[in-house]
Amino acid sequence: AADKSLGQNFLKNPAVVDSIVERAKLRPTDAVLEVGPGTGNLTVKLLARAKSLVAVEFDPRMVREVKKRVEGDPRKHRLELIQGDILKTPLPFFDVCVANLPYNISSPFLFKLLAHRPYFRCAVVMFQEEFAQRLSARPGDALYCRLSVNTQLLAKVTQLIKVGRNNFRPPPKVDSRVVRIELKNPPPPVNFVEWDGLVKLCFNRKNKTLRSLFTSKKVIADLETSWKTFAALRGASGETPDVKAMVEEVVGGERFDGKRPAKMDQDDFLALLVAFNAKGLHFT
Ligand code: SAM
Repeated sequence: AADKSLGQNFLKNPAVVDSIVERAKLRPTDAVLEVGPGTGNLTVKLLARAKSLVAVEFDPRMVREVKKRVEGDPRKHRLELIQGDILKTPLPFFDVCVANLPYNISSPFLFKLLAHRPYFRCAVVMFQEEFAQRLSARPGDALYCRLSVNTQLLAKVTQLIKVGRNNFRPPPKVDSRVVRIELKNPPPPVNFVEWDGLVKLCFNRKNKTLRSLFTSKKVIADLETSWKTFAALRGASGETPDVKAMVEEVVGGERFDGKRPAKMDQDDFLALLVAFNAKGLHFT
């Protein structure tokens, strides 16, 4: 029986399986990584088109199932099955990743892909429809969020096929969407930890103005603390400056006066981070 806690909803519509494989645009020389093969619906078709395939599956029953399924396949020596949690398994080298995973690990899996090196050509991944839309949301869209900004900093996301819930057995509660993810190479020159710190703060209340977000007591206190840490690292000593006045200069300046995160694009966030950093203000 399908294990609900592992998000075991298996694709029963072969047309959808074919379409996913087709969208992966595999070349005969490709090393492919499949995540969550389940009963092997995608696995057998990927195997037919790849030079090598590594499949990572958490459920030992499913690992056995896939093994059985490729038993008579002349290409089965090209398949390496790994039983393990994809979030804890070091990823092998791959050109293309294909994944249909439980939705409760969408975010950590996505960030594992975004951080993965060396660069891979693309990942074709099934997500819950709304999660997929968040990845591509633009400034002003209702779904525009921290996930949108962080993902778009590091990757290009293309919305591919919508997959209705009835294409799965058992059907999940919501519809799904397959997306293609291509990492930006090289990535923009930012410290991602600090970038995320800034973006997280902004999207706590994305419809507030930058002024009201950044001049709250809590944020000013945090910025003072980090200013002191950075000053100590530089070997500087002396008075802590008036952090609130510095923040006012940034968020009250021409570029950012009256701006709200909900309507800011990636260049705006980058410029905001640069402006804060220029004053010695950091978000770590
Ligand atoms: N690829 C198959 C298909 O499309 O029919 C199965 C997809 S099913 C939505 C998700 C699969 O991921 C299940 O087989 C489940 O056991 C496996 N899985 C769940 N959590 C996992 C994890 N952390 N690491 C690896 N596989 C996992």
